[in-house]
Amino acid sequence: MIKFKNSIGLRLLRYVFACYLVVALAVTGLQLVFEYRHVKSNLFIQLYGLENTFKNSIMTSLWSFDTPQLETTLFGMQKIDMVSGIKIENQQREIIASIGTVLSEDSQIVSNEQLDHAGLSQATIIQSNATKRLTLFEYRFPIEYQEDPSGSIDLLGYGVIYASENTIIERVKYSFILIIINSAIKTIALWFFFLFFAHRVIGRPLKTLANVASTLNPDKLKTLGNSKELEIIINSKHKDEIYFLADNFKQMRNAILDKIGIIESQKQTLENRVLERTQSLTEANADLQHLVLHDTLTSLPNRTLFNDRLNQMLKIGLRDGMQFIVACIDLKEFKSVNDNYGHQIGDQLLIGVAERMSKVLRSTDTLARIGGDEFFALLPVEKTADSKVIAEHIVNAFIEPFVFENNNNISVLVDANIGMAIYPDHGESASALIKNADMAMYQAKLSGISYANYSSKQDSILKRQIKISEDIKPAIEEGQFYLVYQPIFDYRAKRVSKLEALIRWQHPTLGLLSPVEFIPISESNGSIYELTTWVLKTACNQCKEYHLLNKSMSISINFSGCVFNQPEISDLLEKTCIASDVPPSSINLEITETTAMAKPEQAIIILNQLTNKGFTVSIDDFGTGYSSFSYLTELPVNELKIDKSFLLSMTENSHKVIKSMIDLAHLLDLKVVAEGVETRELLDMLNEMSCDFAQGFYIAKPMTIKSLCQWLIIEENYLV
Ligand code: C2E
Ligand code: MG
Ligand code: MG
Repeated sequence: MIKFKNSIGLRLLRYVFACYLVVALAVTGLQLVFEYRHVKSNLFIQLYGLENTFKNSIMTSLWSFDTPQLETTLFGMQKIDMVSGIKIENQQREIIASIGTVLSEDSQIVSNEQLDHAGLSQATIIQSNATKRLTLFEYRFPIEYQEDPSGSIDLLGYGVIYASENTIIERVKYSFILIIINSAIKTIALWFFFLFFAHRVIGRPLKTLANVASTLNPDKLKTLGNSKELEIIINSKHKDEIYFLADNFKQMRNAILDKIGIIESQKQTLENRVLERTQSLTEANADLQHLVLHDTLTSLPNRTLFNDRLNQMLKIGLRDGMQFIVACIDLKEFKSVNDNYGHQIGDQLLIGVAERMSKVLRSTDTLARIGGDEFFALLPVEKTADSKVIAEHIVNAFIEPFVFENNNNISVLVDANIGMAIYPDHGESASALIKNADMAMYQAKLSGISYANYSSKQDSILKRQIKISEDIKPAIEEGQFYLVYQPIFDYRAKRVSKLEALIRWQHPTLGLLSPVEFIPISESNGSIYELTTWVLKTACNQCKEYHLLNKSMSISINFSGCVFNQPEISDLLEKTCIASDVPPSSINLEITETTAMAKPEQAIIILNQLTNKGFTVSIDDFGTGYSSFSYLTELPVNELKIDKSFLLSMTENSHKVIKSMIDLAHLLDLKVVAEGVETRELLDMLNEMSCDFAQGFYIAKPMTIKSLCQWLIIEENYLV
C-alpha cells in the first residue's frame, strides 16, 4: 500500500479552500458594501417615518411656543437608536432648539454631498474639540402649519435629524458578524463535505489505481493478479472518468497479465531449454574433455593428460621424495601388422595391447597412448629394482598371440621394446624423463632386447643412433645413399660372375656411414623396406645401364629379415625386374642364416615363391647363426656364403670347418661363396677345397659402378 504525503485529495482540498476563501471574502466584501448601502437607504425611510411620527408634535410645540413640549418631543426622538441629534431651525435657519450631536454653523465640514434621497445629505465634519472625523447624515424637513385642509400653509421652521455613520456601521458590523459566522459554517461544512466526497470520489479511487499501478512493478508481479479495490471501482454505479480509467486500467492489467502469462510460459520453456542445453553442453563438454585428454581408439589418456599427470607426479616426487618410472613402450613390427593385415586389424591390435597392458599395471599407474604404436606409462615405485619386475609384467602381456575372432581368427604375435627412466636418478624434469625413457627404448630396440633402463653412458651412442634413425627417410629422398659393388670370383668360370651390391650413406654431418651401423637402425625404425626397394631399383638400373648383366653376370642384394618376410616381396622383386628390364635369374637375394631360420616354414614358402619366379637365393653369413641342418635341407636356396669371420681368423680348426661346410653344401647341392678372402693363399686354399666362389678384399674391395667397370676390364685377369 502506497502512502502519499501529498495526495490529490489534500491538494484539491487546499485549492478549493483557498478559492473558497477568496470568493467568500470577495462576496462578504460585496455583501458588506450592499448592506451598507441598504442600511443607508433604510435610514432615509426610517428618518422619514420619524418625521411623520413627530412632525405634528414639533409643529404644535412651535405653534404654541410650548418649549417644554418641544424638548420632550426632541428628547423622545433622540432615544431612537439611529438618531444622534436633532435640531429645530426657524425660517431663517437659525437653531432654536437642538439635542444630541448636531451640525452647528461653525462645524468644520470636510466634505458634503447630497445623497440619493431628497432631504438627506451627508457631511463629514471634524469636531472642534477633537480632530476626530465624524460623518453625519442630515435629514431636513420643513415644519409647516395649515389651519384647515383648504387653508394656506405657513412655514414655521425646519426640523433637522442627524444620524451618525456609526449607527450604520454598527448595523453593518452586526451583519458582518452574521455573514462571517455564516461563511465559516459553510466553509467548514464544505470542507467536511469535500473531505468526505473528494476522498471518496477522487482520492480513494485514485489511490487504489495508484496502488494497483504500483503492482505493475516487476518485483511485485505476483500480487498483480488480485486487486479487490479495483473491482470495487469498476462495479460502482458511477460511470465517471475514474470508472473508465479503472476499467481501462483493468483491461490493460489483464492484457499485461496475459502477456506475463505468455512470457512466464515462454520463460519456463526457455529455462527448460536452457537447462536441457546446459545439460547436453555439460555432457558434451565432459565428452569433449575426455576426447581432449584421451586417445579415441584405446580410450587411454593421451599425451596431454600424460604430461599433466607426469607434472603432478614430479611435484609429489619432489615433496615426498617418491620414486617413479617413466616407461616408453614401443611395439615391434607394428607397421608390418598394419601392412599385412590392414589398418582395421592394426587398430584392434592396439586396443588389445592397451587392454592387456592396463590389466598388468596397477590402478595407481597411468598408461597413455602417445601416438601410433607408442605407449607411455607412469609407474610409482618404491625401489629402483621394481622396474625389472614391471617390465617383465609388461613383456609377459605379449606372450600370447592376439587373436581376432571377427577377422577369420587372425592371430598376431607382437612384442614390445620398453625403455625406462627412473625419477630422480634419470631426470628431474618431465622432458628429461620422457627423452631418457625414449632413449632407453631405442637402446632396447637396437640391442634386440625387450627392456632397458636408461643409462647416461649410452647417451652419446644413443644420440647418434637416434639421429641416424631420424635421418634415414629424408636421406633416401635427398639421394644421400649410394651403392658400391664387390666382385665375386667364380673358380670354375675363372672370372667374376657375381657382384654384391652394398649400400653406403654419405651423411651430411656424420660423414660416410657403414651399413653395419645404419641397417639395424633402419630395421628397427621400419625404413628398411623403403631402403631395400631403393637398393633393388638402383642396382637393377645401374647394372642395366653399364651392361653388366649381359655376360651372365648376376647381382646379389642383401635382404633384411623383416623385408624378406613381407608377403608381397616376390611380387615387388618381379615388378622391379620388369620395370628395369632385368631377368629375375640375374638377381640373387642374400638372406642371413638367422632370417631364414627365424620362421623356417614361412621362409620356405617365400623362398619357393622367389625361386619359382627365377630368382636365386644365398644364405649369407653362414656359420654364425644356429642353423638347423634338417631345415637347411628343405630350404629352396642356391648357395651358402661362408661368413668372413672363418677366413679372417684362420686356424687349423676353422680350416676344417670351412672344408666341412663346403662339402656339406655340395652334398645338399648348394654352391659355396667364401667371404673375407684377403690373401692369395686363401684364394688358392679355397680353390683346393673346391669352393665355388670367392669374395674379399684380395679380389677387390667394394667400389662404385664406374670403378667396377674399369676394374673388370683391367684387373679381372690377374686372378686367374
Ligand atoms: P655382407 O652381406 O656379409 O657383406 C659383406 C661385407 O663384408 C661387406 O661389408 C664387405 O665390404 C665386407 N667384406 C668383403 N670382403 C671382405 C674382406 O676381405 N675383408 C673384410 N674385412 N671385409 C670384407 P659392408 O659393405 O660394410 O657390409 C656389411 C653388411 O651390411 C653386409 O654384410 C650386409 O649384411 C649389410 N649390408 C650391406 N649392404 C646392404 C643392403 O643393401 N641391404 C642390407 N639389408 N644389408 C646390407
Ligand atoms: Mg651379403
Ligand atoms: Mg656376409
